[in-house]
Amino acid sequence: MEIRYQSTRSHMPSVTASEAILKGLSDDGGLFVPEQIPPLPCSLQELSQMDYRQVAFEVMKQYLTDFSKEELKACIDSAYDDKFESEAIAPLAKVEDTYYLELFHGPTIAFKDMALSVLPYLMTTAMKKNGREKEIVILTATSGDTGKAALAGFADVPGTRIIVFYPKDGVSAIQKQQMLTQRGENVAVVGVEGNFDDCQSGVKAIFGDISLREELERAGLAFSSANSINIGRLVPQIAYYVYAYASLLREGEIDEGETINITVPTGNFGNILAAYYAREMGLPVGKLICASNENKVLYDFFASGSYDRNRPFVLTSSPSMDILISSNLERLIYEITGFDPEATASRMQDLAEEGRYSITDAMHERLEIFAGGFAGEEESEREIRETFSRCGYVMDTHTAVAAAAARQYRERTGDTAKMLVVSTASPYKFAPAILRALEPDFWKQAAPEAVPDEKEAAFACVDELARLSGLPVPCAVRELKNAPICHRRICRVEGMKEQVRTILGLSQ
Ligand SMILES: *Cc1c(COP(=O)(O)O)cnc(C)c1O
Repeated sequence: MEIRYQSTRSHMPSVTASEAILKGLSDDGGLFVPEQIPPLPCSLQELSQMDYRQVAFEVMKQYLTDFSKEELKACIDSAYDDKFESEAIAPLAKVEDTYYLELFHGPTIAFKDMALSVLPYLMTTAMKKNGREKEIVILTATSGDTGKAALAGFADVPGTRIIVFYPKDGVSAIQKQQMLTQRGENVAVVGVEGNFDDCQSGVKAIFGDISLREELERAGLAFSSANSINIGRLVPQIAYYVYAYASLLREGEIDEGETINITVPTGNFGNILAAYYAREMGLPVGKLICASNENKVLYDFFASGSYDRNRPFVLTSSPSMDILISSNLERLIYEITGFDPEATASRMQDLAEEGRYSITDAMHERLEIFAGGFAGEEESEREIRETFSRCGYVMDTHTAVAAAAARQYRERTGDTAKMLVVSTASPYKFAPAILRALEPDFWKQAAPEAVPDEKEAAFACVDELARLSGLPVPCAVRELKNAPICHRRICRVEGMKEQVRTILGLSQ
């Protein structure tokens, strides 16, 4: 069965998977969605006998139907190798009655590696398949983790260039250091005086700028996206949900067909949307619990049926979830309109013009499988502290938001289905915030507020966290400490386009 991709916003002709990956965004500004969601390719029992690469292949081949078996296998084998510090790639940790799916053992220690380690291979394969001569320019807005994962994935990949925009004061010290020290002939990193939504809107505006696109074409270049609006990001993410279920089955933690619930710490709605697709493929999943931090626009949406971004943007200790415009929600809206591009487009227009939209009661009813949850700073701190003191398990700040939401959900509903909590980052990536929860006294003396050098403070916290937890410090963090800074560009939101032109040498 061939799967083609169509836009969420109009009836433009559908495209193949490889074309959708190359384009990133549809020309009408919509996102690409599969025309139908394929089923799981084989039984859960069979999947439970496979390793990560095999499961990824079985899942991805259902979606990327114009890639040959050999092409897809080559992409997957190149991506999920010893860059990952865990042989399982996505191991499960059982802590009391909860299973944590640890997606942070990749080269940049956040879950973005799960997709961004394979996307560059998918993209270069797609270029060859489509006879593309043009060099691809990846434009990426990041709330902290995507940027580094995309830089690491695309660095020195022939035929590609990458430009990353991050909110200058909106990422953790380790995240910033990770990006600013990225090497590669084809990489550029720019700090923006604004928040993540500003970065994302700026990038979208650049994508939509027709005269710039023509200018690029003349220079033999074409834009694409490494953000989770790219279907090439979403599809690899479906694989780890299937793998997690298969692992639980293999370990005898569940019976075949048993329904599990999944809680996902959510920002741009990419990760949880992948869980939704896995469920639609036939994975036995009951509820999907969408966990937000204080920027709880999604929580309010699930509760009320109104999406409203008109509210203060809060900087939290889970910066990768500090998002008020969750791009991938558009794909879900499209589903619940009954695949109606006009109804989707008009809501996206309301969002662009007024910052809000609402859905009908019928649409709201189709959201039943989702439950919203949120946890503020204090509650997630308590989750980190209490879980560590009870079980010795350290989780990062994003995971803590999800763990708290999962707890609330179980208490509120009495639902006893097994719970998978998606763990999206290594605690080392947010060491100061973790120590604030675990050792406030140390934190007061050593961390950002007290020590003028943010980076030095962060590394003091890394050392202390290692001592306290006994968890090995990931290679990605050890290498950072003495790595030289390679990027110093800063711009205002209005200056983003000019930065792109300068970096690409289009200015003259
Ligand atoms: C990106 C990110 C999230 C949010 O994921 P979305 O797919 O944007 O919803 C959560 N936690 C961490 C650590 C992340 O990097």
